[in-house]
Amino acid sequence: ETSANPTSDPAPRSRQLFDRAEAVIPGGVNSPVRAFHSVGGSPRFMVRGEGPTLWDADGNRYVDLVSSWGPMINGHAHPDVVRAVREAASDGLSFGTPGVGEIDLAQEIIDRVEPVEHVRLVNSGTEATMSSVRLARAFTGRNKVVKFSGCYHGHVDSLLAGAGSGVATLGLPAIPGIPEAQAADTIVLPYNDLDAVRQAFAEYGDDIACVITEAAAGNMGAIPPQPGFNAALREITRSAGALLVMDEVMTGFRVSAAGWYGLDGVAGDLYTFGKVMSGGLPAAAFGGRADVMDLLAPTGPVYQAGTLAGNPVAVAAGLANLRAADADVYAALDRNAQRLGELLGSALSSKGVPHRVSLAGNLVSVFFSESEVHDFAGAQAQQSWRFPPFFHALLQRGVYPPPSAFECWFVNAAMDDAAFEVIEQALPHAAAAAA
Ligand code: PLP
Repeated sequence: ETSANPTSDPAPRSRQLFDRAEAVIPGGVNSPVRAFHSVGGSPRFMVRGEGPTLWDADGNRYVDLVSSWGPMINGHAHPDVVRAVREAASDGLSFGTPGVGEIDLAQEIIDRVEPVEHVRLVNSGTEATMSSVRLARAFTGRNKVVKFSGCYHGHVDSLLAGAGSGVATLGLPAIPGIPEAQAADTIVLPYNDLDAVRQAFAEYGDDIACVITEAAAGNMGAIPPQPGFNAALREITRSAGALLVMDEVMTGFRVSAAGWYGLDGVAGDLYTFGKVMSGGLPAAAFGGRADVMDLLAPTGPVYQAGTLAGNPVAVAAGLANLRAADADVYAALDRNAQRLGELLGSALSSKGVPHRVSLAGNLVSVFFSESEVHDFAGAQAQQSWRFPPFFHALLQRGVYPPPSAFECWFVNAAMDDAAFEVIEQALPHAAAAAA
């Protein structure tokens, strides 16, 4: 173990691995958000995680503020989750038949999120949103979908327009390979702008199948819905005969035991989940009103399927992750988010760096901005040139934030005083680098 990472050539093994990766994998990564494109340098290859800590291939250790982009609320290699995976795996890896764990995980989701009556398990958040939109279109007999600029709902053709996350990080314009017809039925509106929503419904109301929104935005940085925004979406969609799809892939079971629904109580017709409910293995879900969900095959005509959906090992990991997260874990997540936000704020303030620390529940982000950020335009208007030196100063000192100015930072409940000590030591250097 090395407690402080050396500053010169700190990661030669990672660099070698990245050379190999680039030779066989586009950009060397299997998801663009892992690349260091917007910050420079080559990504660190993590080889082990325990609690709040990650170790890379060179033996450098990091306080992890990515938490696998959300799932690891209990920290890495939580003993309950690892045990559940071992036990499930030793009974067989996949059967392609119904399994007991699937019922338990579906029940757990339904018990936590009241508007969810029926659930189907899938392998990724992308599948969950794709299938939700298909269901909404089938249920309403309409084609148009309203989404918000800067919200990311996975790499579904119709939902990549105006997407945040990696699309925003790389600054990609209209994405080649998506037929115009696919995008033509997507109406992209500014986040937190109810006038724009009302106008879109006035113009296209009879054709709108659903509004899909992140229950709180996390993919343009953390931006909470303004008070009343989600509730108004509920009313507008209901009175227009459209469905409200609450994407809780990021917020679900992280910001509270019942996700964002547990915080604002606004009921969607459909929900999408992933990340935390997967325990770190590939699993996700969509669910909601039984009359909508039961349109799915085999009870209804809307086809949707998956060879590995409800995989017994993934389901066991997800269940164990949810069950390990008791009230203390949620209290720790909130406390850690507050503490991180305060440390970020005071370090940047003391170096005179313009910034806004933004929290959406326990999702944290920092915008290098003079003014409050309520939407994607605000996030994009930040002085994002400050981010790469800020990021690298943290990385060099053993803190691993997301390698992008447009992602939120994910705390976990395993972060202890020692982890915060590392952050606190690193931040003044990072703030100076950003100044
Ligand atoms: N929806 C939201 C809100 C997300 O944050 C993500 C992923 O980050 C997705 C959907 C897509 O999930 P996945 O990456 O599992 O396909």
